[in-house]
Amino acid sequence: SGSPEELPAEVWEKVKNHPCYSEDAHPHYARMHVAVAPACNIQCNYCNRKYDCSNESRPGVVSQKLTPEQAVKKVMTVANEIPQMTVLGIAGPGDSLANPTKTFDTFRMLREQAGDIKLCLSTNGLALPDLVDEICRYDIDHVTITINMVDPAVGEKIYSWIFWDHRRVKGYEAARILHERQMQGLEMLTARGVLTKVNSVLIPGVNDAHLVEVNREVKKRGAFLHNIMPLISEPKHGTYFGLNGQRGPTAQELKAVQDACKGGANVMRHCRQCRADAVGLLGQDRNEEFAFENIEQME
Ligand code: SF4
Ligand code: SF4
Repeated sequence: SGSPEELPAEVWEKVKNHPCYSEDAHPHYARMHVAVAPACNIQCNYCNRKYDCSNESRPGVVSQKLTPEQAVKKVMTVANEIPQMTVLGIAGPGDSLANPTKTFDTFRMLREQAGDIKLCLSTNGLALPDLVDEICRYDIDHVTITINMVDPAVGEKIYSWIFWDHRRVKGYEAARILHERQMQGLEMLTARGVLTKVNSVLIPGVNDAHLVEVNREVKKRGAFLHNIMPLISEPKHGTYFGLNGQRGPTAQELKAVQDACKGGANVMRHCRQCRADAVGLLGQDRNEEFAFENIEQME
């Protein structure tokens, strides 16, 4: 979160009307997500591909997938209807940067048609170092990277495989490559002045004791905010592939890890784990109202 007294002016400019970066902004400004990115380049053990990417979203939700053209039309309609709409994000339903053409076509058209909307994206980070130039070209000033570990020995329990250099890589090697790409991507974004939030999924018994170290390492590399989110595991949303019956953390366990990170990167506590097609103020979702069929009727 933060306030003008604590932050350099150029940073405050970027966060003051972003409901996720500034807790003060969150009741007053709205964000929307468009689900233009269906594919993913890694397999998290907690992901169920039938639903949205858990990098950013609550699992168990199926977002309406749009083409870049449909997405832009939807953004323009919503921006007319909801004047507090200041931020447009791409958060799935797969990985935004595993679908670079769709993601950047959407951003490019929005830059042409709605120059004042702030753009953000979330990613697992694997493709990030190759796309930092593109991110800067469209003036995307907020990026979220989901970083669940800084030690491949922990990572191999969280990830089944990555698709890397035209082949599938598994196990420790997969986690090592993903870790290196995440750290490199974060450092590159920091060097270019892009505000970066880190999301971590808290998985009891797997990375709970390790997240303090994640917090320290990402702070060192310039992360602006650290958002520790609970693993939400409900049988109907699919099992955690690596460990059947894996449970999510209790509210107390989540708070204990957040508290343990005190003094490191700022911890975000107001994330709502929005769906990949969320529309409106945080916690007041209007995505049904702005479903694409309805948008076409509004014209
Ligand atoms: Fe699923 Fe997202 Fe992980 Fe890809 S990055 S496997 S879409 S949770
Ligand atoms: Fe903001 Fe969290 Fe929703 Fe992303 S998922 S838009 S960070 S509240």
